Amino acid sequence: MRTKEQYIERLGKMRKNIYSGGEKIDRLDERQQGALNVMGLTFDAAWEPANKDLCTAVSHLSGETINRFNHIHQDAKDLHKKQDMTRFMCNKVGQCIQRCMGIDAANAIHAVSYEAQKSAAAKTAYHDNWLSWLARFQKEDLVGCCAQTDVKGERLKRPSEQTDPDMYVRVVEEKSDGIIVRGSKVHISEASIADEILVVPTRALKQNETAYAVSFAVPGDYDGVKQVVHFHNPRKREHFPRGFEYGYTDSYVIFEDCFVPWERVFLCGETQHGGVAALLFALFHRHSYSGCKPAMLDFVIGLAALAAEINGIEKTPHVREMLAKLIMTGELGYSAGYTASALGKAEVYIPGLGFIPYGPGSFIPNSIYANVGRCLSGEAVFHEHEILCNIAGGLPATFPYEKDLINPETKVLLEKYIRRNPKIAIEEQIKFWLGFTDFALSGSSGSSIYGAYHGGGSPIMEQIAITSQYDIESKKEIVRKLAGMNPASGR
Ligand SMILES: Cc1cc2nc3c(=O)[nH]c(=O)nc-3n(C[C@H](O)[C@H](O)[C@H](O)COP(=O)(O)OP(=O)(O)OC[C@H]3O[C@@H](n4cnc5c(N)ncnc54)[C@H](O)[C@@H]3O)c2cc1C
Repeated sequence: MRTKEQYIERLGKMRKNIYSGGEKIDRLDERQQGALNVMGLTFDAAWEPANKDLCTAVSHLSGETINRFNHIHQDAKDLHKKQDMTRFMCNKVGQCIQRCMGIDAANAIHAVSYEAQKSAAAKTAYHDNWLSWLARFQKEDLVGCCAQTDVKGERLKRPSEQTDPDMYVRVVEEKSDGIIVRGSKVHISEASIADEILVVPTRALKQNETAYAVSFAVPGDYDGVKQVVHFHNPRKREHFPRGFEYGYTDSYVIFEDCFVPWERVFLCGETQHGGVAALLFALFHRHSYSGCKPAMLDFVIGLAALAAEINGIEKTPHVREMLAKLIMTGELGYSAGYTASALGKAEVYIPGLGFIPYGPGSFIPNSIYANVGRCLSGEAVFHEHEILCNIAGGLPATFPYEKDLINPETKVLLEKYIRRNPKIAIEEQIKFWLGFTDFALSGSSGSSIYGAYHGGGSPIMEQIAITSQYDIESKKEIVRKLAGMNPASGR
């Protein structure tokens, strides 16, 4: 396992292929520091003896202790621990912990490459390639990100129907030693601070869409890869330091006729498995949400409760009702994820076939519960912000700047007029509202709300997964029986 320092040292040596604000920048650029702090914590936490059970695992390949973020789930216990580790780690930063995309993509590709290698037309030994990559990923404790979301161009057209065929990442040429890929994956979280980019298809594919059924991994600074990065950092602080400095990044990852050697290719042309890869990454990621979303709610509950206390309204009935709503959403999301873990199996849902054994035996969370939890709690994010807005009042929207809070000409006046609860020191009240503003009203909070809503798939995608996989017929049968109707089989 690596330390935070070793992780950062390696990033510092990577080729410059990141663009932001009109310039090519270094991976250790100041604007990436918040994100590096968050990712760094995933290394630090794994070294703490108290976190050993939650944050480390024993590799099923090497038998060595590895960071759990690089582990392949071997049983339901592993799924529970991933969920709990995610909540635990997100609680330390008050936001997304950023490393789950790698573990979710790795678990999806682990199963897909195994099945695809059995195909008579397999272009290379997909799973053998994958196992070599995975061994290095675990041994060197690398950070992976997942590039799934294609730009998708004209929304109502399939990949093969687009006016521009590059709207979904595709193979433009197969060569004796590898493939050439072109296209762009968008909104790719932490690609700019990742060692490796794992690529999987975005959607189910038709038989004529073989070029789009591609999965591979390349280093983040690989030749033929450009990243255009958006930073999500809260406003800089000078006088009232935060308890933890955080930040996030998302990239347009652009493959400019990028050569990928066969040994880094895990799928190339098998459309049915391409669709499963899309579905499985989304499923593992929605399961991760059942850890991070409750953690976000933990933070929001704390914000709402402290805002109520500072405003002196904590005992009012409407505040209690709003707090109960926040608690119910978070814990329902957690319990759906817990059930998805407990009911996990080495099985996947394939349209037309139903749930079938899939992959080499590694565990996959139950799809219905993972999707239900993600959808219900993901959609709630705007209501959570409505509750925060309701309880806080207008104060965070116009809160004075730090410099005004320390300027001798305004300091005492502002302290007098900001103070609400005489039992709480004014410095504490100021720090609280600054933190509240970071979370709910800063530039970074906007993208975090969009991420909470769309990340892992928009709610409609979860609803499609739920309704296509749920046994609705059996529910109709319950009603037929109780209404004295004929059963479906007897009609
Ligand atoms: C902050 C953030 C971080 C993210 N991180 C990652 C990441 O690390 N890796 C990754 O791969 N992705 C990531 N995503 C992408 C995320 O998974 C997508 O945003 C999500 O899948 C929705 O896709 P989209 O943004 O293209 O929206 P769209 O799919 O364009 O959705 C916009 C609207 O169009 C509708 N729509 C789209 N297609 C159709 C259709 N065919 N028929 C009818 N209606 C349609 C949708 O239902 C929705 O209402 C991230 C997103 C955000 C915001």
